[in-house]
Amino acid sequence: MIPVVMPTYARADVVFERGEGPYVFDTTGRRYLDFASGVAVTALGHAHPHLIKAITDQANKIWHTSNLFRVAGQESLARRLVDNTFADTVFFTNSGVEAWECAIKVVRKYQYETGHPERWRIITAGGAFHGRTTTAIAATKQEKMVKGFGPMQDGFDQVAFGNMNELRAAITNETAGISIEPVQGEGGIRAGSLDYLRQLREVCDEYGLLLLFDEIQTGMGRTGKLFAHEWAGVTPDVMAVAKGIGGGFPLGACLATEKAAVGMTAGTHGSTYGGNPLATAAGNAVLDVMLEPGFLEGVDRIARVLWNRLLELAARHPKAIVEVRGAGLLLGLRFAPEIVNGTVVDTLRAHGMLTVAAGDNVVRLLPPLIITETQVDEAIAILDQVCSEL
Ligand code: PLP
Repeated sequence: MIPVVMPTYARADVVFERGEGPYVFDTTGRRYLDFASGVAVTALGHAHPHLIKAITDQANKIWHTSNLFRVAGQESLARRLVDNTFADTVFFTNSGVEAWECAIKVVRKYQYETGHPERWRIITAGGAFHGRTTTAIAATKQEKMVKGFGPMQDGFDQVAFGNMNELRAAITNETAGISIEPVQGEGGIRAGSLDYLRQLREVCDEYGLLLLFDEIQTGMGRTGKLFAHEWAGVTPDVMAVAKGIGGGFPLGACLATEKAAVGMTAGTHGSTYGGNPLATAAGNAVLDVMLEPGFLEGVDRIARVLWNRLLELAARHPKAIVEVRGAGLLLGLRFAPEIVNGTVVDTLRAHGMLTVAAGDNVVRLLPPLIITETQVDEAIAILDQVCSEL
């Protein structure tokens, strides 16, 4: 008999009932160090007092009014995102894939409005992940995700991640833009070089294309800057954000320059819930914390500590760990081919630590941005123990 919850996930048999900072507790009271953060979502950890207060205060006032009316929290959150990024305007969504789909519409509509209706194709990268809607799976073209859901929507051309020659060769008169994750998350924590990101900007300028960064996993402080592209000193035209922005509340955002958003006029896009008062109260509370002086510097500092400790760990277990990779607190341990990453994730959980599997036999480490050195020590001790048992 089919489970009442549609079985699209192979779920671990554990139920968490409470969280506190970087820890979660299951229904038996067992504590786990949460280096999964709900797949890079609970950026401030669990039960952050400021976030709880903001949501509770808002819940006592008004939850939802729809986008037929102005929403004060939306306007303040958009203003703060604009003030802290390349963007001039923001559309709020409930999830990452919706933010990315909005970004795709921005790109296509820009070309349409500026005299290039023939430019509608988007270049994406092999190993990319943008979500699970039919458009997003058509863009990422991963066999296991598209099989049985065809025919796939046309309009996406895929090139190898990081390969500029292949990318240049794929540009045609029909190309509208390029969609890239600065660090591929689901694909296995593969970081594009800073030079790659700069060259993407150059090629877009050269051909009149729009550059779309999917910062759904890399954004909101995860790499030690508010957004990962800041490390490269280049800006996109459009950006998809989600996960950490709501700290656990479903919220996403599509950010764009005024130029790129030229076609996004009344009636061109919408969402019933997107950016509702409760969601934007959460978003504003997350930003309150992330924009506090020293917060992002603190993320960068602890990320460097973790990175060095992981390199030492890998050196102690050369047969198990073949590579440490990633940026900031978006890190991956690639395991030797004979060790299955999913088994490592299960074993770590059995030892009281949550992580996430990713492509390329990688175990993803996505701690909340508020972890301390003591918690890094705790994580390394568990990893050491598990690696010696493999
Ligand atoms: N894009 C990237 C880079 C992601 O990592 C994800 C989720 O893992 C998505 C898009 C899809 O986000 P959501 O599951 O919120 O739709």
